[in-house]
Amino acid sequence: MHKSIINLISVKKELEIKSKNQNVKIIAVSKTFPINELLPLIEYGHEHFGENKVQEAIIKWSDLKAKKENIKLHLIGKLQSNKVKQAVKTFDYIHSVDNIKLANKIALEQKRINRCLKLFIQINIGNEKQKNGIMPEALNNFYNKCVNQLKLDIVGLMCLPPQTGKVKKYFNEMLELKNSVGLKELSMGMSSDYIEAIEFGASFIRIGSKIFGNRD
Ligand SMILES: *Cc1c(COP(=O)(O)O)cnc(C)c1O
Repeated sequence: MHKSIINLISVKKELEIKSKNQNVKIIAVSKTFPINELLPLIEYGHEHFGENKVQEAIIKWSDLKAKKENIKLHLIGKLQSNKVKQAVKTFDYIHSVDNIKLANKIALEQKRINRCLKLFIQINIGNEKQKNGIMPEALNNFYNKCVNQLKLDIVGLMCLPPQTGKVKKYFNEMLELKNSVGLKELSMGMSSDYIEAIEFGASFIRIGSKIFGNRD
């Protein structure tokens, strides 16, 4: 068996034991890995894959997705507004909705080609200058605009918490924020902290190196 399958199974086993929510989705983050490294997991039947760059995703996934219609592709990286057209065509989920200009463009493009992606609002949960995301105190207003004015299908919140050893504090704040707006999903937790994330209600975890190995 390919190592990515063995690794995925071991993460699933761990979730069975440690997670209250038995419906946590594992997004296999395949950024930087070539197609031949992804094929075993696709053949195995895994459905959720994540990429952080639009261009890389189009090159790797356009043909694969046409052949395997069960695959759900997630954009987990920053989306520049000049890439919205390609992103709306290529992805099923966008986790990085973080400003109103972008939200507007997504809404327009979806209408134009008659698609409706599932979207996450990215939260800058640690108030970090170098990170993207809506500030927690601005969420309510932003969420209302996305849903009421733009009719976007916002399914949840996403974050990349500061790597300070206090991830639980940030995950807990995310859970409270999610509940405050009445959303269903939480996209949080990576290879290093997914066990902590599921403790605080993560429903989509984004696992790269733990499945595919270290990136160069
Ligand atoms: C790369 C990436 C991941 C996966 O990281 P690993 O540590 O390899 O599991 C998750 N989320 C985002 C936004 C990423 O860019």
